Amino acid sequence: MKLAPVRFYNTFGRTKEELRPAPDGAVRIYSCGPTVYRYVHVGNLRTFMLPDLLCRSLEYLGYATEQVMNVTDVGHLTDDTFDRGEDKMLVSARLENKSTGEIADHYTAAFLDDIRKVNIRPASHYPHATEYIAEMLDLIEKLIAKGHAYEIDGTVYYDIATFPAYGRLSRNSTDKLIAGARGEPDPRKRHPGDFTLWKAAGGHRLQVWPSPWGEGFPGWHIECSAMSMSILGERFDIHTGGADNVFPHHEAEIAQSEAVTGHQVVSIWMHGGLLMLSGARMAKSAGNFFRITELEEQGFDPLAFRYLALQAKYRAPLNFSTDGLAGADRALRQLRERIAGWSAHPGEDIAKVSEEWESRFRAAIADDLDLPAAMALVAELSRSSVTPPTKARLLTSWDRVLGLDLRRPAPEGSLPAGAAELLAAREKARAAKDFARSDQLREELGALGVTVFDTAGGQRIKK
Ligand SMILES: [Zn+2]
Repeated sequence: MKLAPVRFYNTFGRTKEELRPAPDGAVRIYSCGPTVYRYVHVGNLRTFMLPDLLCRSLEYLGYATEQVMNVTDVGHLTDDTFDRGEDKMLVSARLENKSTGEIADHYTAAFLDDIRKVNIRPASHYPHATEYIAEMLDLIEKLIAKGHAYEIDGTVYYDIATFPAYGRLSRNSTDKLIAGARGEPDPRKRHPGDFTLWKAAGGHRLQVWPSPWGEGFPGWHIECSAMSMSILGERFDIHTGGADNVFPHHEAEIAQSEAVTGHQVVSIWMHGGLLMLSGARMAKSAGNFFRITELEEQGFDPLAFRYLALQAKYRAPLNFSTDGLAGADRALRQLRERIAGWSAHPGEDIAKVSEEWESRFRAAIADDLDLPAAMALVAELSRSSVTPPTKARLLTSWDRVLGLDLRRPAPEGSLPAGAAELLAAREKARAAKDFARSDQLREELGALGVTVFDTAGGQRIKK
C-alpha cells in the first residue's frame, strides 16, 4: 500500500521536507528525554508531547514507528561546558539523603506517571545513560583517533574547529559560539566553544566510571549520540527536542555523530516551542513552573493541558495561564458531553460525507502536524449539519491522534454542560419572583435531561 506523503519542518534547513523512511521500515524517532533528578513540569510535558503526536499521527496515516527516549540519569552540570557548576544528581542525592540510583528511580517513576496523565504514550525504548557508558567511551575514542577530540588532564574536549559544519543547525557564527561559552572557560581549551565529551572525576566519588583517561563521567551531549545510534542505527528519520536543545545540545550531537560515521545521521530535526509563563520561559532553574499534578489538585482535568497544547502550532511558543487552562477544561468537557449525546442519537452514518472530513483531517496532520487545523476541523464538524452518528464516529477516530479521551463518560453525578449556569440563573429568577423566567429556565434544563423541582429549601434536581 502506498502511504500518503508527510512533510515536517526540518530545523536544519528551515523548510518543510518530505519524510522518506526506509522502504517497508518503521519511522525511527529519537527524542531527548527527562533528566531524572527533579520532577518534570508542564513545559517539559509539552516538549515530550511532540514525539507522541508524531507517532500517533504517523500511525494514523498507516506508518509504523519506533521511538526511543533517553533518560538522563547521569547528572550533568548546570553549565553545559562543564567548566563550573555542581552535579545535579549529586545535589539531589545529598538534599534528599538517598543514593543517586534511588533518586533516578524515584523521578523516573514520577515522569512515567506524569506523561500517562496527559496521554503521552510510552516510547518503544527508554535507555538510561548509565547503561551506555561503554558506547559513549567507544565514540570518544573514535573521535580522538580521528583528530576531532583532545584530552587535557583526564578531561576530553571536542575540537569544534575540526568540524566546519559546527553552528549550522543553530545558525551560530563562530563569534556567537565564543559568546555562548558561558562562565570562565578552561584556558587550556583550543577554542572557548569546545565542549566536554568526558570530564575527569575531580572530587567526585559517586557516578564516576573508569576510562582510558582515568576516572570520570560523560558529557551530556555524547549520551544522545551513543544511545540514538546504538538503538536506531547510524541513519534514522527524526530527532526531536525542545527549542532550547538546538544549541548547544543538538549542535554538539551532530558534530559527534557525523564526525564518527562520516555521514548524515538524522534526516529531520524537529523542535517543540517553549511554554511561557507570564512572558518568561517555564523553567526549573527560574522556579516558575507547574507540575501536572498541581494543576490536577486545582481541579483541572490533566487532559485540558493537552487540549490547550493542541491549539497551538507545536513549533510556536505557547503562553500558559490558568485562565487559558480553565477555558480548555470547559471546552473539553463540553465536547465529551456532546459526543456522548451524538453517539446515542438515532440517525444515519453517511460514508461519503465522512470520507471528505476524514481526508481533511489526514491532510492537516500530514502537513507538519498541523494540530491547530485539526482542532479547527473538530469545531467545524461539531457545528456542521453532519448526522450525529457520523460526527461521533469521526471524532472517536480522530481521538486516536488527539488523545483527549473524548469517549470518557462524564463523572457520576456531574451536570451536563451549561446546566450549572441555568440553575444559577433560575435561582436568581426565583429570588426575584420572576416566575415566567424561572419556568422557562426549568424547560431549558429539562431539554438537557435535568429535572428541577422546588422545595422549601430551594430548588432540587434529578437527572
Ligand atoms: Zn539529547
